[in-house]
Amino acid sequence: MTTNVMILGAGFGGLELASLLSERLAGDGDVTLIDHSDAFVFGFSKLEILFGHQTREQVRIPYGSIRRAGVEFRRERVLAIDPAARRVVTDATVYDPDVIVVALGADYDIDATPGFADGGFEYYTVAGAERLRDELEAFRGGRVMLAVLSIPFKCPPAPYEAILLLHDRLVSRGIRDATDLHVVSPQPAPIPVSPSTSAALEQAMAERGIAYTKRHRVYGIDPGAKLAHFKDHDEPYDLFVGVPVHKAPDVLVEAGLTENGWVAVDPRTMQTRYPGVYAIGDCAETGIPKAGTFAESAAHVVADGIARSIRGAGELAPGGTGLCYVEFGDGEVGRVDVDFHAEGGPTAPLLGPSAAYVAEKAEFGAARRARWFGT
Ligand SMILES: Cc1cc2nc3c(=O)[nH]c(=O)nc-3n(C[C@H](O)[C@H](O)[C@H](O)COP(=O)(O)OP(=O)(O)OC[C@H]3O[C@@H](n4cnc5c(N)ncnc54)[C@H](O)[C@@H]3O)c2cc1C
Repeated sequence: MTTNVMILGAGFGGLELASLLSERLAGDGDVTLIDHSDAFVFGFSKLEILFGHQTREQVRIPYGSIRRAGVEFRRERVLAIDPAARRVVTDATVYDPDVIVVALGADYDIDATPGFADGGFEYYTVAGAERLRDELEAFRGGRVMLAVLSIPFKCPPAPYEAILLLHDRLVSRGIRDATDLHVVSPQPAPIPVSPSTSAALEQAMAERGIAYTKRHRVYGIDPGAKLAHFKDHDEPYDLFVGVPVHKAPDVLVEAGLTENGWVAVDPRTMQTRYPGVYAIGDCAETGIPKAGTFAESAAHVVADGIARSIRGAGELAPGGTGLCYVEFGDGEVGRVDVDFHAEGGPTAPLLGPSAAYVAEKAEFGAARRARWFGT
């Protein structure tokens, strides 16, 4: 008898898991991969769109091109999950798979920040990156505030990458002197797990005259007065960019899978409290940051777990590892190899930044495209 595995969400985690299971289950199982979108877009491609290096069409990787043995992609929206009965309801049909892996990512709660929907910009969605790109083209100078609006959020380096790349863009347009750049974050450091990366990012910002306020949060903005509201004071801006408040997709809350806002899992197995129901990636709470490479690492744990449940033996990958490339501007990229489960505590040394990692980052994307899509 074959095991039917249903993966909900064809993002970083879902695609990695589908490609792993395609190799590992041959003959013993089949995979149905569900996503309501028609194409995958790497998170870092949104920076390419923001700065006009690539268009939406250039960064889309259509799901229709998936060619992996034993994997069937279906473009459907997940409407409801009954984890106790292992039942999934989509806008097309009802499924009763043997195994469910929830990989639906994180959604944005734009309305959680008063004024943000009316007067703020974001680049965490493709549409938001396009809108901010157009706004930046028309920008002639002034005060730019880039604020992380809550923790957790995807890709901890992304706010610092955006401000450093924005600095370069303003220099090349000759309006950097007419612009104040200011990053605000509730976190105590840019990348708390990596003191060396945090120090390098703080130094890069200081060298470029970018103001950085840590341990502070913007609670709302007044688009009419162009004021950002902090806990005990207001600050003026001309262009407000926010990393939106993140939340688990509503369908997971309604399924009763969340605790404290995110899907509760055993971080060693990624299993929820329901047998045969796993969660990986940004929607799951594992105590480590939200990033594609950690979703990928969790996919390895689940692939091992599913193979073990079918064959009755096998080790589980440790999880908690990831490889992050960080844009420093000026044509340089840094590389951080993170291991949250290293003996003696998490390790995350910084390599670079240097021009050499630009090509390595491009190869990182190309390798995944080949692995996930089989094309
Ligand atoms: C600007 C930016 C830069 C980034 N840079 C990096 C980087 O350099 N390196 C890195 O590792 N990470 C980076 N990230 C983070 C990375 O994109 C995410 O952490 C990663 O995609 C999470 O993977 P996931 O599988 O959990 O979720 P996702 O990749 O978000 O996938 C979730 C999928 O579920 C689908 N979905 C959601 N709801 C439903 C539903 N109801 N029905 C059907 N389908 C649904 C979505 O369409 C989506 O395809 C970046 C993110 C941003 C925004």
